[in-house]
Amino acid sequence: MISPIGVFEPLKLGVINKLKRNNQVSSSASLFATRPDTFEKSSAQKKVDLPQTDILSLSFTGLKNAEPVRSLGHIICPCCGVEMMTQKDMNDVSRHLGQTAQQSIKTLNNYEKYMHPVEKECFENLKTWSEEQPELNFQQLLEAHKAPELEKLQKKQNTILDKVDELSSNLPQNEQELVKNVTKTTRELVSSTDKQIKFKRKTFIQNMEDLSEKITNKDLHKQMMKEAKTMPTSQNDVSAFVVKYADRKHNEIGERLVKLSVGTIEHIKPQSEGGRDDVRNYLLECGGCNHNRSSIPLGDWVDEHPEMIENTQKYMDKVIEFINNGGMKGFHFYPQAVANTLFMQSDGKLDIKVNGLKPEE
Ligand SMILES: [Zn+2]
Repeated sequence: MISPIGVFEPLKLGVINKLKRNNQVSSSASLFATRPDTFEKSSAQKKVDLPQTDILSLSFTGLKNAEPVRSLGHIICPCCGVEMMTQKDMNDVSRHLGQTAQQSIKTLNNYEKYMHPVEKECFENLKTWSEEQPELNFQQLLEAHKAPELEKLQKKQNTILDKVDELSSNLPQNEQELVKNVTKTTRELVSSTDKQIKFKRKTFIQNMEDLSEKITNKDLHKQMMKEAKTMPTSQNDVSAFVVKYADRKHNEIGERLVKLSVGTIEHIKPQSEGGRDDVRNYLLECGGCNHNRSSIPLGDWVDEHPEMIENTQKYMDKVIEFINNGGMKGFHFYPQAVANTLFMQSDGKLDIKVNGLKPEE
């Protein structure tokens, strides 16, 4: 096998821009295009030929080639920095959840360190609540504590709608009306007591986005969008978590507490943009970050998540340690290759150093 290590000199920015131009990178971003369980789509999608950086990729097509990257196992997520679980861990959780919250908590205690902050906080709440009512399962506990959380959530949602209204007061009257129509409908959904009528964050954001052509002051629209996107989700808000999952099944709730911490294959260059199923285009990333990024271009994503710069460097240092200790056999080129991909796809915002990699034996 040809050793690719010598071929991957760190790319210079000029070269990168040229590569990007040739590759006609577009920047269409669709939010929430995938569900967490469908990230790793087998790629029947259109492939775009990359320039010669991928000349060595011939033998690594198809998502099954993700195994070397998956073997990184309990490494930190390069995006949020949380230590990730493996699919095997997840299967263990699913198999060993009990009938009651108390039984399930015993299993989940082993995986608490992998939980994201909101999940951890919910788990702590569930522990406390289950001590008071040990016979209940997760669903029943969430249901029992839903009312005060719903009240808190509605308060936050209404505050955001107030801020959007406030911003819109600087618009011409007719445009102001358009915004008020959206916020008014949303307010009704947020406070609806009818279980069939549910507020959907995604729909609200889409409705706000749809105003972009009608609102002349683009900067103000941008500010309103920024505000709209602060609408809580079950990933960043405990109340939203409790409200959302109070009518889900016990096992689903137990699994949800850790599910987004499982390491998944992230395409650095999104598949929808022609990103290849190739280890050079793969990061092991937690399900939560993978889901949230969807197909947002990496440069934009780094702007929204500047912590990724530090976390990706930590990820890389761990990868190198893993390889130096005999891991990822035959994929010695991965650190430099992936650093190049990251640099290129992020417009140089992720300039990750490959330090201390021992020569391949
Ligand atoms: Zn993450």
